[in-house]
Amino acid sequence: MEKIRYKHLNTHLKDMFGERTLKICIDGGFTCPNRDGKISFGGCLFCGEMGAGENIKYRTDKVLESIQSQVLGFLNSYRGERANKFIAYFQSFSNTYGDIDSLKKKYDTALACSEKIVGLQVSTRPDCIDEDVVKLLASYKGKYYVCVELGLQTSNDKIGKFLNRGYTKADFEKATTLLHRYGIDVVSHLMIGLPNETEQDVLETVGLINRLKCEGIKIHSTYVIAGSGLGEMYKTGKYTPITQEYYVDMVAKVISRLDKDIVIHRINADPPKCLFLAPDWILHKKLVLNAINRKLDEDDIIQGQYCNAS
Ligand code: SF4
Repeated sequence: MEKIRYKHLNTHLKDMFGERTLKICIDGGFTCPNRDGKISFGGCLFCGEMGAGENIKYRTDKVLESIQSQVLGFLNSYRGERANKFIAYFQSFSNTYGDIDSLKKKYDTALACSEKIVGLQVSTRPDCIDEDVVKLLASYKGKYYVCVELGLQTSNDKIGKFLNRGYTKADFEKATTLLHRYGIDVVSHLMIGLPNETEQDVLETVGLINRLKCEGIKIHSTYVIAGSGLGEMYKTGKYTPITQEYYVDMVAKVISRLDKDIVIHRINADPPKCLFLAPDWILHKKLVLNAINRKLDEDDIIQGQYCNAS
């Protein structure tokens, strides 16, 4: 029998809801304080003009469409026939950046679309989490599974500063602790291949995610897209993307050190093809996934086997 080498999201959702459960990606018309001038206008170094979640095709022209039509559009399409249970997933930009009333209206609108919606997942920045936001999110817990995705990328604040991230490791710790106090699951983002990042930086970030007992992780390889600061660095030879071999090797190390209870939501990047510059290997997601699985088999790696080494 094939060995289960890491805790996969699909299996986790099936265990939780008793059947296949899919996410409906929603553009809630949010912006980001690191783009609208509250913190900066530039955004994170790797972020494109459309923000995290560029793959949503609703940007610009369709942003005016209601959240309701996005959700119903999904459910009434062939995608809605692939499962009976769904999670409303607010993905683009910082989805807790707004006043409480407007946040509530947006979440309520999505959740009210169908009885098939069993969860609310919200992606945001740690500095867009405060007690009022957390209380609002926690108010959905009676009926829905609630989960918050927090940017982190790296626990190294020097790199964070270079990335123009605009928040610190301490902000991430504070937001995670607050969310946990209200019983809300946290999924953190980890990026491999950031400028000036060492292997030790990646493993220390894993150590932080373990210590804070995050419930989930998204592992990404750093990629370069047009219109980003990293894009400019790449064009002028100041940034060289990592190779597939390095990424595969690092993912294996991350998995071996990651607490066995943390669910892996993503193991490779999903860049927007229209803006994509490099590295090309990232576009071949299936090949990357196969290479990761091969590496895990060859080295007989199981999630968490070296957890205490981080
Ligand atoms: S926090 Fe997210 S949306 Fe905002 S600039 Fe950074 S990557 Fe882009």
